[in-house]
Amino acid sequence: MACEERMRLVARKAEEKERKKEKRCQHVDSSGHQCTNKKMQKKGAAYCYKHRPR
Ligand SMILES: [Zn+2]
Repeated sequence: MACEERMRLVARKAEEKERKKEKRCQHVDSSGHQCTNKKMQKKGAAYCYKHRPR
């Protein structure tokens, strides 16, 4: 059914968005915006090179 197909598409898009978000630096600035840089390639890294904790 067309309706089902659309729902599946929406679900897949949301999944993709989620995955993209996961790749992003987890830093959130004081105005609530998340950093748009990619995380460092290092395994287990949650931040970009700019925001990495020491
Ligand atoms: Zn960052």
